[in-house]
Amino acid sequence: MNTSWETVIGLEVHVQLITKSKLFSGAATAFGAEPNSQACAIDLGLPGVLPVLNETALKMAIKFGLSIGASIAPKSVFARKNYFYPDLPKGYQISQYEFPIVSGGSLSFTLEDNTTKQIRITRAHLEEDAGKSLHEDFHGFSGIDLNRAGIPLLEIVSEPELRSAKEAVAYLKTLHALIRYLEISDGNMQEGSFRCDANVSVRPSHQTKLGTRAEIKNVNSFRFVERAINYEIERQIDILENGGTVIQETRLYDANKDETRSLRAKEQANDYRYFPDPDLLPIIVSADLIKEIRKTLPELPREKSERFERDYGLSAYDANVLTATKELADFFEQTVQASYQSEPKLCANWVMVDLLGALNKTNLDITESPISPERLGGLIRRIHDKTISGKIAKTIFEKLLCEKEDVDTIIEKQGLKQVTDTTAIEALIDEVIAKNPHQVADYKSGKDKLFGFFVGQVMKASQGKANPEQVNEILKHKLGP
Ligand code: ADP
Ligand code: MG
Repeated sequence: MNTSWETVIGLEVHVQLITKSKLFSGAATAFGAEPNSQACAIDLGLPGVLPVLNETALKMAIKFGLSIGASIAPKSVFARKNYFYPDLPKGYQISQYEFPIVSGGSLSFTLEDNTTKQIRITRAHLEEDAGKSLHEDFHGFSGIDLNRAGIPLLEIVSEPELRSAKEAVAYLKTLHALIRYLEISDGNMQEGSFRCDANVSVRPSHQTKLGTRAEIKNVNSFRFVERAINYEIERQIDILENGGTVIQETRLYDANKDETRSLRAKEQANDYRYFPDPDLLPIIVSADLIKEIRKTLPELPREKSERFERDYGLSAYDANVLTATKELADFFEQTVQASYQSEPKLCANWVMVDLLGALNKTNLDITESPISPERLGGLIRRIHDKTISGKIAKTIFEKLLCEKEDVDTIIEKQGLKQVTDTTAIEALIDEVIAKNPHQVADYKSGKDKLFGFFVGQVMKASQGKANPEQVNEILKHKLGP
């Protein structure tokens, strides 16, 4: 059999909102506290307490909805999702079911081949996080830490419109950047602030009906999402090509073995006995509140990227790369400022090629860059005003990576100033011409290519410091036509 298969992926992303207190209680939300030191009576599900909605979390959900062009429900409802688990003391999770706060909207992203894809968002709803079971520090039993219980989550559900692991990762990166731009989450994946469940199915390419999906739970890095999905695609195709059927189930990705494993048969919505939470009033959102929140929307990645093209004359590709994260975009703009706005395109090149290249090698993030925008901008200023050549700039850049000194001090101390004094350059050129009579003769008899040789010799004699434009000009003059 020679069927070609199409992959179908829908993602559910849980984003922890950065509120100071929990979704329904006043307990603190900071990461890494002593177990159970940030869990109050409400988070513990003790009798006689009532949840109170955190308004900041609600506003963050609305802000997200507005940023993706979704509709904000004038009335939405919290529902109880009932199940037992040791990290869920109430026996139910407060979530939203039939009436989520955010519906519709879409997310666009650019793929490696520069094509753009738009994925529709089904919904985004507010819910509380569960606690954590700790297995490692205990022998023969598990500990329960309820610090995370009740931390606000925004669950963002996509339509099953993604068609490959690469698309899924591009979608996730775009979503991750967006929530950071909106400042509604720190997006820290190691700490679980941005977690993804990937629903994956395959179907014969000509078929319109969706195949049976498996849901891979809680994958917490972009790299693992890609691997987990690719493993799952192959597993399912393998089953189908061998005449089997895929069963709907929840699976776990094991990064060490690079495989997914069955966790449990997929539960159906009615297993959870959802019903509206009688302890909480419906959320009513007024048009005025939406208006107010709309005003707080920052410049979004796409808008920023378009502005970079317009104002700095960057290509769409460069603008896209530089706005991939807010931190990188800010770094670039600060560099442009520090270079006195002289050469935005040159700044873009230095940030994207030299700086990101160096950071990549040392596994550092842009926020950990040993070169500040001020120092990089300073370097570009000196290229622009011709104090140094581009070549010398590369040498100085290497020094900036490991030394604290600023550009002007390095130039001064090491005598790297570009030679722009015409008499000095002429002297060097005369010397080179005198030393190479054969080449001069060859050049004059028509070997034009030798011009580069002379430029090279003069630059070498000046230890790279002669201004290349002047060298070219004077050489042309001295060597004659
Ligand atoms: P739940 O997983 O809670 O039962 P849904 O049925 O709403 O919820 O689906 C959740 C996610 O699964 C959505 O992102 C949706 O796009 C995706 N999905 C649904 N059916 C499929 C399928 N056959 N293949 C891949 N993804 C799917
Ligand atoms: Mg699900």
